[in-house]
Amino acid sequence: MRFFPQYLILALMLVMPTAWAEPLRVVATFSILADLVKNVGGADVTVTTLVGADGDAHVYEPTPADAKAVGQAQLVVVNGLHFEGWMDRLLKSSAYSGEIVVASQGVKPRQMAEEPDDHDAHQPKQEHSEKPAGHHADTDPHAWQDLGNGQIYVNNIITAFIKVDPAHAEAYQQRGNAYLAQLKETDQWVREQLATVPPAQRRVMTSHDAFGYFGAAYGVEFLAPVGWNTENEPSAKEIATLIRQIKKEGTRAIFVENMSDPRLVKQMADEAGAVVGGALYSDALAPAGQPGDSYIGMFRYNVPALVAAMAKD
Ligand SMILES: [Zn+2]
Repeated sequence: MRFFPQYLILALMLVMPTAWAEPLRVVATFSILADLVKNVGGADVTVTTLVGADGDAHVYEPTPADAKAVGQAQLVVVNGLHFEGWMDRLLKSSAYSGEIVVASQGVKPRQMAEEPDDHDAHQPKQEHSEKPAGHHADTDPHAWQDLGNGQIYVNNIITAFIKVDPAHAEAYQQRGNAYLAQLKETDQWVREQLATVPPAQRRVMTSHDAFGYFGAAYGVEFLAPVGWNTENEPSAKEIATLIRQIKKEGTRAIFVENMSDPRLVKQMADEAGAVVGGALYSDALAPAGQPGDSYIGMFRYNVPALVAAMAKD
């Protein structure tokens, strides 16, 4: 019995590397990436999300707490495709020197539509002048809206986890594979849902031009409101122009998230013979517990909303 303490110390030394290992500290730039990271990482990781539910990552301003989280991270996961314009400065200010995963690596990038009011229109004016030289402002960053790309993201995340934390390689691969299977199933489901709408009716208008990848993958045409200024309510003349555009393009439904007067949208839709589709989740998930609070949940919410609006007579 008197040797017990020595045995105990020896036993502790043997189990220490695994039993006492803390979860991998991961930072994800926005809520959709964070969900992918959690699905692959499970209990082997802790995730800090910089831009949370309902947040706008395009215009985000990092906080001192973000710099601290990045400084202490063992892995940072970003979307890339110039989505997180504020990230380079944050990485510098937190002196981060660890691994950075660009989740969109390997995705075929799309260009933004060339309407005068492209995606950047909802950003404050000074954002434009702040863009560094060589910034490809017209690369569409919303690649996750195609579940095929989502699978590329997940594979990149699995590879990075295994590299940084090889002790849990098998667990990352298993959870990753199970999640990839769910994404494939959801992709199939999206196609089946949209197949119920005649192709000619798959035309909707959205104010946030975030569905280029979705449209290309699933055969829906997303039209941007021409000449639209998302910062102000439109004038009577602008409304008349929009109504003409909706009629001319055969738009079935209008999904205008950031228009403050729902009666105006309703009036516009009525006059143009379209329906009001409500809001779609594009760049951020819903708060936990609500529909659209996960990457898969976002599609499970958006697709029936699109189908219902487009299928209406
Ligand atoms: Zn966006």
